Order: sequence, then structure tokens, then C-alpha cells
Amino acid sequence: MGQLPAEVSYSQRYGFDAAWRQQQLALLSLAECPNGCAELLHGRVLAGGVAARVVTEFFERLLGHEPARRLLTSFDVERLRETQLQYLNSFGVDYASEAYFEERLRVGVAHARVGVPLSLYLTAYSLLQSLILERVSRTELTPEQGRGVAAFVLRITALDIALATEVYHRTGVSALEDSVRHMRGEREELRRAMRTDELTGVLNRATVMAQLQGALESARRTGQSLCVIMADLDHFKAVNDRHGHLVGDEVLRGVAARLKAAVRDFDFVGRFGGEEFLLVLENTSLHTARQVAERVRRRVSDGPLHCRDSAVPMTLSQGLTQAREGDTPDALIDRADQALYRAKQSGRNCVVVE
Ligand code: GH3
Ligand code: MG
Ligand code: MG
Repeated sequence: MGQLPAEVSYSQRYGFDAAWRQQQLALLSLAECPNGCAELLHGRVLAGGVAARVVTEFFERLLGHEPARRLLTSFDVERLRETQLQYLNSFGVDYASEAYFEERLRVGVAHARVGVPLSLYLTAYSLLQSLILERVSRTELTPEQGRGVAAFVLRITALDIALATEVYHRTGVSALEDSVRHMRGEREELRRAMRTDELTGVLNRATVMAQLQGALESARRTGQSLCVIMADLDHFKAVNDRHGHLVGDEVLRGVAARLKAAVRDFDFVGRFGGEEFLLVLENTSLHTARQVAERVRRRVSDGPLHCRDSAVPMTLSQGLTQAREGDTPDALIDRADQALYRAKQSGRNCVVVE
């Protein structure tokens, strides 16, 4: 029941407004408690070092309870005693205020977060309550005052318990919500990782092939034109030989970025193999596909790629083909490959249409 720091208003977060506070107070008949009760409690019952002795007894009793002792050993008991004394000194003081409610909610959240079982938490409340009541009975008060203060202690304990359990529940729910959100994020990340080529960030081979399969089926249904480009970097082996594999890898990344930038958002770009890329252009005429390929070619060869300390000029050869009736993905790829072969034969850095 100690006080721990927090950054947010729990009243706001959980929607506990003034009306809710009034309801809680009415439910516990706290509105009827004579105003002088808190003064009597703190000015007479708990005065003169009694509060500190109550806290000492409280911890002695708690430490005699095995589950509590096991939990308390992981904390700095001196600090707990201090915060417990602060709690006791503020017990029922200005209980109708927003600040009082907020503090109780905050303390409840803190206990829920460190994993204090609710049953133990409630046991501790009732232990503290009986220790206070014992002191009330030992204090010289008029019978009327004694009854009033005792009723006040019971009601305030009930209020504090109500606030603690309310917030225990909410904390559990929001922890669950957090972990669901976290798992969703991880699943999305995993899904993305499974789809993309690790080195270049474009689609991996399996995914771009699956896209091609889907695109073929949809072209067959709709009768729309589908084009495919197989693109292969020219003399890439020489880049590795001259600059090393790490620069080669960066060149691949840079080329992939240029490819993505040169095509339209709805085109699919995948890494088919080492320095080969497959482009799937749905709903695209052969004429337009040729323009896309030409743009890709220019973009890749438009100035050297700057990787580490090297400036590496690159060019790209491309084989373009249009899907035909009865094509399978393999048949399409085969034709694009043949066109690519001819592009290499005719001097590279060009587009050949099959
Ligand atoms: P061509 O113009 O005829 O296509 O010549 P090329 O050198 O590009 O073709 P070749 O097939 O002879 O060489 C491809 C090179 O690509 C060889 C291989 O080491 C390199 N390569 C394949 N994958 C990677 C990779 O992930 N990183 C790096 N750095 N190099 C790769
Ligand atoms: Mg090559
Ligand atoms: Mg190759």
C-alpha cells in the first residue's frame, strides 16, 4: 500500500470522473461521515508516534505470514515501511478529492504491476484495518466519537479496497491488451520478413512467383494483359572481383531500390536469384511494359551506385514477354529468360521483347 511514482492520471485513463467518485462515496455512505473523523483519527488515535508503531506491528504480522514474507524479501522493507507510514498518515484525509482517488488508483496499479496477488493485498488491508481499530478502542474518546471514528475507518478501508480492486482488474486487462498488440506486431513483422528478400528488401523468389501465379489466374479471368520482365545485371561478377562481395551486396541493394523507384506502386518486383530480378506487371499492355522496362533500364544506368568508397556504374539487361492463352508461370519465365539471353547477346544494357 506504499506510494510509487506514476506519469499518467489513472482517473482519466480509466474514465473515473467526478460522477463516478460521488457514486463510490454514496455507496459506502461516506458522504455521511462526520467531517471531524479524519482529524480525530490522525490528531488523537494515531498521534504521538502511534502511526509508526502501527506500521511496525503491521510488518511484523505480515512477515509472520509465509506468502507475504516470501514476497516482501524481494523488496527494501525499510522503504516499504516509510511508504506505508505515508499511506497511513494520509488515510481518509480529504478522501472525497480527486487527488485522493488518483493516489489510491496509482498505488493499486503499482502493486498489480509488481505482481502482488490481490488476495494478499486485500489481507494486508484488513490487517491494517484491525490494527487501527484496536488503537481506536484504546484511545480515550467519547462513545459517540469512538463509534464515528470506527465507522470511518471501516468505510475508508472499503473505499481504498474498492479502488485497488478496480484498478487491479483494469491493469490486468490492459496488460493483456498490450501483449496482444505486441504479438500482432510481431506476427506482422514475421509475415513481412517471410515475404521479402533479406538482402535487397524486394519480394523474395517464392513470393514473387506466388504473385505471378495469382496474376496469371486473374489475367485469364479478366482477359487483361499481363507482362513479365526478367532482368539481370551486366557483368556483375566483375563488381565482386574488383570491389569485393560486400560492395557487391550493396550494389544489389542499391539496384533493387532503383528498380522499385522506377516501376509503379502496383507492380511486383522480386529477387529471382543472385543478380536477377523478376518484374510482374499486371493489367499492362506490351507497349506500356516496354516503356516501363526502358524506364527501369535508364534508372539503373543513371549514374554510378555509391557503395562504401566505390562508385560502381551498373547496367541491366531485360527480357520482356506478354502472357498468352494457356501459359503457366514456368512457360512465361522461360520465354522471358530467352528474351534476356538475346539481350545479353545483343550487347547488354537493353530490352528485348519475346
Ligand atoms: P552477365 O552480364 O552475363 O550477366 O555477367 P555476370 O557477371 O553478371 O553474370 P554471372 O552469372 O557470371 O555472375 C553473377 C555473379 O553474381 C556471380 C555471383 O558471385 C554474383 N552474386 C550472386 N548473388 C550474389 C549476392 O548475393 N551478393 C554478391 N555480392 N554477389 C552475388
Ligand atoms: Mg548478370
Ligand atoms: Mg545472372
